[in-house]
Amino acid sequence: MTISGATKVLAVIGDPVAHSLSPAMHNGWIADHGLDAVYVALPLKAGDAEPALKALKALGLHGLNITAPHKEAAARAADRSECAAANVWRWEDDGAVSAFNTDGAGFLDSLDESAPGWRARRSRVLMLGAGGAALAAGEALSPFVDTIHFANRTAERGEAAAAAVPNGRSLRWEDLERGFGAADLVVQATTLGMAGSGESFEWPLGHLRAGAIVADMVYRPLETGLLRAARERGLATVDGLGMLIHQGVRSFELWFGIKPNAGAARARLLAVLGETA
Ligand code: NAP
Repeated sequence: MTISGATKVLAVIGDPVAHSLSPAMHNGWIADHGLDAVYVALPLKAGDAEPALKALKALGLHGLNITAPHKEAAARAADRSECAAANVWRWEDDGAVSAFNTDGAGFLDSLDESAPGWRARRSRVLMLGAGGAALAAGEALSPFVDTIHFANRTAERGEAAAAAVPNGRSLRWEDLERGFGAADLVVQATTLGMAGSGESFEWPLGHLRAGAIVADMVYRPLETGLLRAARERGLATVDGLGMLIHQGVRSFELWFGIKPNAGAARARLLAVLGETA
């Protein structure tokens, strides 16, 4: 493509951001639709968020994704915000910046795609973790399930997440076996299992009931130890790449008014990750 003065610029900010899959995903869709736009990754240290976001507002990109650790700062710095932690900024015609969060809806889209049966019953959810991603998924799941138990290594954070969700409850990290035994849907939203983290954890999968669904937000590796063990027990599994792609689909729609092809993105990103479909 030729970059000109009219080319629309989009970006993702985060720390770290160099290994983000978002440029490959969005530039793939930009090419699919023949748009005059380009999407880049901009590293931004936590302490620099406030002045950088102010400058970005003035520069007027076409769209921005925000990843850790800047989501709360981005929600605060926007002119209009529908969320406490934003992963999308959109510049409006009047120059104002609107902030959105597509993580929760993207997570539900991914569940619908990979485990469509989850909506068929009122279910009990076990949310592992209580960070921004767990909270976004918990808020999105809340209207469709009976209870969401947040189990977090740091108990206070788990209790705060439980209090922020209407049918949220907290579960002690020491009580994971009980939580696994009661859950219809387990959502792994901690950093455990990420490639290179050096952290491994023995999840009490033997306690899971038949028919339970196991979702992991981690996508490097695509099949985490948790998902592999669940699959080997014959359980339905949902990997983290689906959530990444579907929050991206919703970002792209907000910026361009076009729903891009999730399947095309998955094929491209599997190639980037060195995985086979
Ligand atoms: P975050 O706000 O930093 O939260 C991290 C969570 O991991 C906290 O609950 C933390 O517990 C827990 N944790 C960290 N190390 C742990 C350990 N050794 N043992 C037990 N728990 C540990 O991060 P986030 O933004 O919510 O992201 C959480 C995960 O979701 C990450 O793996 C991220 O890559 C993934 N994610 C995926 C997508 C996607 O599109 N697939 C989108 C967003 C996030 P404490 O409170 O005790 O520290």
